[in-house]
Amino acid sequence: MKQKTVIANAHVVSPGVDILNATVEISGGRITKVSKKPAPKKGWDTFVDVKGALVVPGFIDVHTHGALDRDVCDEDHSDSIETLAKAKLAEGCTSFLPTTLTMGHKTLVKAAEHCALYAENPRYSKALGLHLEGPYINPKCLGAQNPAFVRKPDIREVLEIAKIFPVLQVSYAPEMEGGAKFAADCVKRGIVPSCGHTGAKFAEFMPAYEKGLRHMTHFCNQMTPLHHREIGMVGAGFLIPDLDTEVICDKIHLCPDMLRLVFARRPLEHIQMITDSLRCSHLPDGFEFELGGIPVKLQGGEARLVNGGNLAGSTLWMNQGLKNIRDVTGLPLKDIVRVTAWNQAIGMGLGDQLGKVEKGFVADLAVLDPKSFKVRAVFVNGEQREF
Ligand SMILES: [Zn+2]
Repeated sequence: MKQKTVIANAHVVSPGVDILNATVEISGGRITKVSKKPAPKKGWDTFVDVKGALVVPGFIDVHTHGALDRDVCDEDHSDSIETLAKAKLAEGCTSFLPTTLTMGHKTLVKAAEHCALYAENPRYSKALGLHLEGPYINPKCLGAQNPAFVRKPDIREVLEIAKIFPVLQVSYAPEMEGGAKFAADCVKRGIVPSCGHTGAKFAEFMPAYEKGLRHMTHFCNQMTPLHHREIGMVGAGFLIPDLDTEVICDKIHLCPDMLRLVFARRPLEHIQMITDSLRCSHLPDGFEFELGGIPVKLQGGEARLVNGGNLAGSTLWMNQGLKNIRDVTGLPLKDIVRVTAWNQAIGMGLGDQLGKVEKGFVADLAVLDPKSFKVRAVFVNGEQREF
């Protein structure tokens, strides 16, 4: 028997859809009906009255390194992925890509093993696949990545890791030797190549674009800025509409005016909100830790390198990011909810499965307080999961 769930009194907001007092019906983990009709009196196993709360597509974070003092690259903590999955669930994330740092091969293999271990019994948010951030980056655009582990693009290494756990995205610098071919090699295997930690000039980027690269890792951060005689990677992001640009919407990595500019000038269907969260995420201020061997301190909500002060990643929660975008841009929620889930799903070839509160889609839902956007409940595959 398929488990039937009814969610009543929902304010459903999904790409292009905004329905007050809606009823969402779920059967066998999928949404079977979204309507304005009152909830059926019987015929269900679970009935949840959300009392006017927002019901949005469960968030998908394609770029997250850690939370609660755990990092995807922790070799000694086999619970690192489960801990991150639990933290992600608390943000309303129903799927995420555990994201590695620029590290040695053995560490990356270990990370993949830990992902595979969690996938045996995924009790919280779903780990869809790995996002390798580096190690194939430009040593001049490290941000908080460790230069000791930087190396040239190597598809064989990616495929070796992918045998242990699927690799869905690789962030790398396309100007590195073999960078354009690497994009083609990734695309051929259904892996999203993404330019990041890159010092490429516009012309240096284009060969990889021509080979199918359509994704930018944390747009504006650790890439060549816009200049009127060399538009760089930031210029590429504004000039080329079909580049999926990751944006850290914490109002720190991009100031509110830059967020406004990005949302005003880039097509909404090609923006993907990410957290780029670190192990200090979900932890109090003052927390000190190492990131790939580099000391970092969390202060005033900003995670910065102890030496030099570079931003190291964020402590952003996905639900807060959605609120930030709404507050900063003033755009309708039904337009911007696509940047927190559906765009990511489309990018991974899952656009007909994930990212919408619509009939036929997987019932991955976040229930949010309509004012604070605080997460009240999360449904994964139609089942309410505790965090
Ligand atoms: Zn990152």
